[in-house]
Amino acid sequence: MKKIAILGSTGSIGTQTLEIVRENSELQVVALAAGSNVELMERQIREFRPAVAAMWKEEAAEELKKRVADLEVKIVSKMDGLLEIATLESVEILVTALVGMIGIRPTIAAIEQGKDIALANKETLVTAGHLIMPLAQKKGVSILPVDSEHSAIFQSMRGEKKEQVEKILLTASGGPFRGRKREELTQIQPRDALKHPNWSMGRKITIDSSTLVNKGLEVIEAKWLFDLTLEQIQVVIHPQSIIHSMVQYRDGGIIAQLGTPDMKLPIQYALFYPDRMPMKGKRVDFYELGTMTFEKPDISTFEGLALAYEAARIGGSMPTVYNAANEKAVSLFLEEKISYLGITELISDAMKHHQVIYNPNLEEILKTEQESYQYINEVVGK
Ligand code: NDP
Repeated sequence: MKKIAILGSTGSIGTQTLEIVRENSELQVVALAAGSNVELMERQIREFRPAVAAMWKEEAAEELKKRVADLEVKIVSKMDGLLEIATLESVEILVTALVGMIGIRPTIAAIEQGKDIALANKETLVTAGHLIMPLAQKKGVSILPVDSEHSAIFQSMRGEKKEQVEKILLTASGGPFRGRKREELTQIQPRDALKHPNWSMGRKITIDSSTLVNKGLEVIEAKWLFDLTLEQIQVVIHPQSIIHSMVQYRDGGIIAQLGTPDMKLPIQYALFYPDRMPMKGKRVDFYELGTMTFEKPDISTFEGLALAYEAARIGGSMPTVYNAANEKAVSLFLEEKISYLGITELISDAMKHHQVIYNPNLEEILKTEQESYQYINEVVGK
């Protein structure tokens, strides 16, 4: 029996993780955490019977306590609650499926306690990869990627020697606005950007996919996860999302991982690694698929990708600014307070405004996050 805890259990990755638990009796949920969705959390507690459950918001935790008073479950809240779950003695694997930098502290705390991490929360590695990866190595902890591209790279590197990797080819669907030019993006509304052609995901990552900021975050995530230089990471647009990413070796050979676009595969792979468990669902039918196509990303229209390379090249606290400015800008766009193109404009402004801190510690990262939010509020408030 493998004991898992899920941070972000009510979200897109969280609920798909629970679907996998439902189908695999070898998995047991010992703790769950979410933000404010009390109703779904109650249902999850009744079905999966965790020992501990957390709601970020105190009022939500109070409400949950009342709703599940008939059950033996401890309800906690805020950061202390997330930290309690992340370090719970019985947890073997922590699934980090929170959205945003809120995941950094629980992830570090879990690694400190020797827990393996099934990592979906890419913002954590983007901003604190220089702290997390060496700590994981020191503690002998595995960071198992859940992001489908990183899982594909991880799978394509199995049994190979890392020093023989020439580069990785990170595939991207190109999002709903692939092929459009900047002037055709001025009128985009949240409902247009929330329609992803291939993947069904949470709201923030769906917007990030449309701006290619998600791919930018993935470039930085890959740099840390696989210890690569930026020159070794090439983004390739592949609209069908069948090849989930590839690794090119020094003899020119390329190993890829393919499948239908379904997040349950990388989630399950991370939970059972190194085993592959059976999984129902659609298979790739190559007769039906016919063609797979590839393109170069248009980084003058989708500047978010170019800005990610710039942030990663500068390093230090700059990826935090890139990530935090994007988080804030996306929420302002979803509230219809800024335009679609305003998202990358704000990221660029915030990066120009920032004084880099090299090798930032956790406090400096979190301070940079807050300063970036504040800067954007001031700019947008003007
Ligand atoms: P969702 O928005 O669907 O879900 C986010 C989850 O985090 C919800 O359970 C939410 O709870 C919870 N949450 C938010 N804030 C807090 C908080 N302060 N404390 C505790 N819980 C909180 O996001 P996704 O599942 O789409 O994405 C999660 C992460 O996985 C992101 O980092 C994303 O980039 C990454 N990822 C997602 C993929 C996908 O297919 N969705 C693919 C690859 C990576 P509540 O519902 O109560 O608000």
